[in-house]
Amino acid sequence: MQQEKRTPLSPILRRIKFYFDLLTKTSESYLYAVDIQNKVVLLSPNLVADFDLPGTVLKDMDGWWRPLLHPEDQAAYADALDDIFVRKDTDNYDLEYRVKNRHGDYVWIHGRGRFLRNEAGGIAFFAGWMSRMGRRNQADSVTGLLNKYQFEQAVKLALQTYRQTDTGGALMVLGLDNFKIVNETYNRFLGDQVLKTVAGQLENILPAELTLYKLDGDEFGIVYPGASAEDVGQLFMNVQKCVARPQTLDGKMYFCTISGGTVFYPQSGKDYLVLHKHAEAALDLAKRDGKNQNCVFSREQYNRWVRSLAMRDDLKRSVENGCEGFSLFYQPQVCAKTQRLIGAEALLRWKTPKGRMVAPMEFIPILEATKMIIPVGRWVAEEAMKVCRKWQQQLPGFRMSINISYEQIKELEFQTFIHDRIIHYGLNPATITLELTESTVVSDWTFLNQQFDLFRRQGVNIAIDDFGTGYSSLAYLKNLPCDVVKIDRAFVRDIVHNEFDRRLVDYTVRLCHSVNIEACIEGVERADEYDFLVQECKADVIQGYLFGRPASVPDFEEQFLRSGILERK
Ligand code: C2E
Ligand code: CA
Ligand code: CA
Repeated sequence: MQQEKRTPLSPILRRIKFYFDLLTKTSESYLYAVDIQNKVVLLSPNLVADFDLPGTVLKDMDGWWRPLLHPEDQAAYADALDDIFVRKDTDNYDLEYRVKNRHGDYVWIHGRGRFLRNEAGGIAFFAGWMSRMGRRNQADSVTGLLNKYQFEQAVKLALQTYRQTDTGGALMVLGLDNFKIVNETYNRFLGDQVLKTVAGQLENILPAELTLYKLDGDEFGIVYPGASAEDVGQLFMNVQKCVARPQTLDGKMYFCTISGGTVFYPQSGKDYLVLHKHAEAALDLAKRDGKNQNCVFSREQYNRWVRSLAMRDDLKRSVENGCEGFSLFYQPQVCAKTQRLIGAEALLRWKTPKGRMVAPMEFIPILEATKMIIPVGRWVAEEAMKVCRKWQQQLPGFRMSINISYEQIKELEFQTFIHDRIIHYGLNPATITLELTESTVVSDWTFLNQQFDLFRRQGVNIAIDDFGTGYSSLAYLKNLPCDVVKIDRAFVRDIVHNEFDRRLVDYTVRLCHSVNIEACIEGVERADEYDFLVQECKADVIQGYLFGRPASVPDFEEQFLRSGILERK
């Protein structure tokens, strides 16, 4: 309790003190009685305790109370008092507002009071009670914004309005990207400051008629009645703009972009719970698809989301059971000139516990997002090297290409693991190629460069996969030392008819050769494509259905390894 000189009770308050004390013992509400003329206030002990006021008898209640009010409620509070003191048009006071309690949290208060005027019309006395409005009506303690319960009310109100006026609208849920990292790098206190700052920034850009709500964790909510797809797009662009730059708080730098999930009502739901669930699903999809974007809910995407959740659980079980359900298929790679089998690319396959085969395009992004690619990637490397060793006994120098994800390289022990396994299987490192896809978003080029360098110094080859499909093909070539470039099927598909693609492939192969990089062309399906690539482009290695589809170990041995020279299909 704060210190203040003991204030004596005025006569009128002394007269009622007996009743007042009795009431405080029988009520959970906060009670107060004010002698206006003498400016003395009598307060119940719970009010003093919960708001850390200096005593149950106070001289300057207003001076203690008003600073505790939430800034947004100051005006309404002043207005209610003016109705009585200045305009004198009522004797009653009834108001809901937010007050900061002794923990520094804003709580919603419902205050009611009755004024007794003396003969001259001035106010002699007033008394009343205040009650906490419970959890449902509390303001968010960090940002002071209305909380999820009020968000729910607002959505329900919007749905009611829709039923009466046929005007639909949108619900938008915003989540800070990488907020966990801010919390982990610094501390929760700074995390709270960030939330508060972002809340302020968002409120600034929000159209006046919209309200920002604070939902659980790092999420905010907006109800936007009458919104069109363009309105939502515009709003989200403004949201992105206000957090576009790295910011500093207490001398600490942080950068938090925002993702959004939007759902339109009544199209995608006519009930709060359904709409909220769909908005959260859309937000999750926006985050999974790379963050810093708004995803508008659609049934089709929702089904995809539900499937991927189920798949994530199944994958987790597979990984926990020693990569059960995973297998490797091998696709032959041939020397362009001689059509001789020179190696294979190991391609991952996965069968769900229910026995359904899932395409790598579907399950690999999940493995990457959950970092399960790290144990699975090790399993892949181990299996592929084991098979490579076996096949080298039949075809010395047989090369094995292994796909790796950026997530795996980021793990420092991966380097040692590969080195260790190469020695364990007694392989010549030059027969192992690690493929990294070009569309990988690289956050640290220097690091990647160092890792590539270390692998190459061990004698392991590095291939840039899917060359030409990302945003920065040439940047990759310039920044990263590599041994092989794999030109994507996208450039081969029209090679026979499309002059541009033909030239592009031709120049890329030449560029590679000029800096001693081997050019492998992927996805060759037809003989005329092959002829052009070999005769005109001088490609080094060919991989594609023309020579063979990915096959299991026994099939590969049967179909390709035995003959050595592969026939075109
Ligand atoms: P990728 O590394 O570009 O692999 C080549 C893909 O092209 C394979 O698809 C292969 O079956 C397909 N392909 C090969 N020849 C032809 C052709 O002539 N025509 C056509 N239309 N397609 C052809 P797959 O097996 O579905 O693999 C898809 C992707 O999944 C791979 O693309 C790779 O990025 C990823 N992946 C596969 N295995 C692994 C793995 O063990 N680790 C990681 N990180 N990624 C993997
Ligand atoms: Ca590959
Ligand atoms: Ca590829």
